[in-house]
Amino acid sequence: MTEGWITGRTRQLLAENGIRLKKSLGQHFLTDQHVLDRMLHAAELGPEVGVIEIGPGIGALTERLAKEAKKVVAIEMDSRLIPVLKELFADDAHVDIIHGDALELDLVQLIHEKFHDCSSVNVVANLPYYVTSPILMRLLEDKLPLSRIVVMIQKEVAERLTAKPVGKAYGSLTVTTQYYTEAEWVSRVPANVFVPRPQVDSAVIRLNVRQQPAVSVQNERLFFRVVRAAFGQRRKTLANALAAGLFAGKRKEDLVRWIGEAGIDPKRRGETLSIEEFAQLTNHLDEVMR
Ligand code: SAM
Repeated sequence: MTEGWITGRTRQLLAENGIRLKKSLGQHFLTDQHVLDRMLHAAELGPEVGVIEIGPGIGALTERLAKEAKKVVAIEMDSRLIPVLKELFADDAHVDIIHGDALELDLVQLIHEKFHDCSSVNVVANLPYYVTSPILMRLLEDKLPLSRIVVMIQKEVAERLTAKPVGKAYGSLTVTTQYYTEAEWVSRVPANVFVPRPQVDSAVIRLNVRQQPAVSVQNERLFFRVVRAAFGQRRKTLANALAAGLFAGKRKEDLVRWIGEAGIDPKRRGETLSIEEFAQLTNHLDEVMR
């Protein structure tokens, strides 16, 4: 199959079904088999593995997933694409097309119902840009029993998810993602392999879901609140950022002392703390404020 073939097929399916793509649904369809190869290679599927695809569009990625996985459940929000997808996969009993919003569906139940006979479940998707972060955060924060997530997303978001401490890309999204997963950069993808062409470049990343979070925290809720407060006022020192937000009711000198006791210089900016240091700080704050 060549790039020309897949582009032609996408255009033909859309034209035959009278479908005009909607920007509001992030509809940029992939037309390059080499990019699909890279996604499939990163996903490391196999005959026992189940896959959830979010946003199958016209089925270019779905078709490849169906060849390598035991079961594919594809969730598509655009009702116009459902009959097209159902017809395309009519002979594939192991491909389930579900009409719905990935942000609304009960994914815990879906995994329980559809993948009970699979050894593991992965998410592989070319995500709609307008909901990339909410979808990823939902997959991680709901603690779904997933092994791996391979997604095509906007390049800037991919840089944030895979960033190292310090620097513009490092933020609360980085810490949350790396708390739950080992995040790896797979490859950059230029805008010209999509129909229609988006304004931005994309990238494929792989998130290997950790069995245990990257760091041990006694109070997970406090951990994420501290992280958000630290990055919420990036230019302030850690003590000032926490005093201004999360700990507004506390005396600043107490806060400075507690941060120091946790082994962290209170004059540092929050954006310089590693995930381990955020855990160290939170565990100490949780203890002294009990
Ligand atoms: N997988 C196809 C491909 O690679 O060519 C299409 C990817 S396109 C970037 C994103 C797809 O997600 C579109 O088909 C869009 O209709 C669908 N979509 C948008 N929001 C969604 C949501 N909340 N839940 C499920 N699907 C959604």
